[in-house]
Amino acid sequence: MKLKSSLLMLMLSMGIFAQDKSEFIYASLEAQHASELKASHPELIDIITTHNDVTIAHLHPEAAHELHQKILSHGPGYLMHPSKEAAINKIKNVKEQSRTVLQFTIDQQAFVRQVLDEVSQSNIEEVMLALEAFGTRYHTSVQANQSAEYVKQTWENIIALYGRENDVSVRLVNHNNTPMKSVVVTINGTQTPNEYVIIGGHLDSTVGGWDKSFAPGSDDDASGIATITEALRVLLANNFQPNRTVEIMAYAAEEIGLVGSNEIATSYRNQNKNVVAFVQFDMTNFKGSSQDVYLATDSFINNALNLYLIELMEEYNSSGHHQFTYGTTRCNYGCSDHYSWAVNNFPAAFPFEASFDDSNMNIHTSYDTFELIGDASHSVKFAKLAIEFLVETAKHTGTLSASNISSSKNQFYLNHKTLGFELASVQKITSASILNVAGQKVMSRFHLNSKDQLDLNSLSQGGYILILETQDGQKITHKFVLK
Ligand SMILES: [Zn+2]
Repeated sequence: MKLKSSLLMLMLSMGIFAQDKSEFIYASLEAQHASELKASHPELIDIITTHNDVTIAHLHPEAAHELHQKILSHGPGYLMHPSKEAAINKIKNVKEQSRTVLQFTIDQQAFVRQVLDEVSQSNIEEVMLALEAFGTRYHTSVQANQSAEYVKQTWENIIALYGRENDVSVRLVNHNNTPMKSVVVTINGTQTPNEYVIIGGHLDSTVGGWDKSFAPGSDDDASGIATITEALRVLLANNFQPNRTVEIMAYAAEEIGLVGSNEIATSYRNQNKNVVAFVQFDMTNFKGSSQDVYLATDSFINNALNLYLIELMEEYNSSGHHQFTYGTTRCNYGCSDHYSWAVNNFPAAFPFEASFDDSNMNIHTSYDTFELIGDASHSVKFAKLAIEFLVETAKHTGTLSASNISSSKNQFYLNHKTLGFELASVQKITSASILNVAGQKVMSRFHLNSKDQLDLNSLSQGGYILILETQDGQKITHKFVLK
């Protein structure tokens, strides 16, 4: 890393980039980083316009990448756009993320609990090792498209194994700004096929600088591709048939400005496809922090979707053998492919392997190998979260939702700043907690009755989640919005 940075500095001081702008790209990046780059290397960046702290610039991609490696914790730190007009259009049209809590529900407990047991750590390891064995998946390398063919074949094998050729298909996606292809698998929705529930990760790898010969990219992001592949396998092995259409995507060229995901998300926007939620899996196998799953909370993350992921983890992962913990962290502008969906005004979220300060230091080096981590036990938690998210958001056709049976009998009402509830079964509540959209606990009460109420006067406007823990260890969750 150090060597490459000093090589870059040498080239900069020699003025190698100074005259030639043919390699320059249009990009959006954080305004502060754009002005820092302008101050240190004015020949590498032309600032075009700034809107809501996001700058559109014409810049040299390698230099921007190296600069962001130093300042930022993850990803390219910018989105590449095909033209100046496209960049301006995209950035000015980003709507304020809605604070309204969407009608995401949890009622597929029987199916989800049945399938979670089947997540296989060794399957995840197998895919990670196969991707690493390409040597590099840098987007312009021959191996990049070989790895795309491998993912396509792996997904087709899963479809064939479970006899789903009729309603599940895989396609390669060609791009304009990279020779690398993305891979997309589609499970057709049975009830509302024009509503899409999507998860993704990126297939390319990089070591930055000019030496593209060896970029194993095991954690970044073979781990994410292996995680979503195992989610697909478990769902098809259990004859999952979603009401909404489910898609799983392996993106080309994330590392050079989220190119594959941005082209796909933009085309979905242009085709008026209704993407109800997108969740990104980029780096899932390095446990660097005390908690397990860290939800990114930057301004491009959809708060309702984040609350829903918290609710899912409270429901399925707070006890028993699928138990793991969660926290929240902040990620920089353009840190991964979920930004491509967010800038196209689709709800997006990003659960990450650690707090960003504690994430894998070996990424973008030749040391990002499976061997250095040794097993895929951390990724298993993310595969479970992916399955919970896909089943509960897309809904398994034909299952009787649990809410029709029991939880709908739990009554909740919000009256000004009082939240009342009455549970279907009479039992003591040992604790009541309220979390905000950043996952922080903002209120705790102990020893309540099955019919009781909470005074919310200390809380400001926004979305929240109430978690009631009953005497017999059951957890009941309820989302609400204070206006
Ligand atoms: Zn990555």
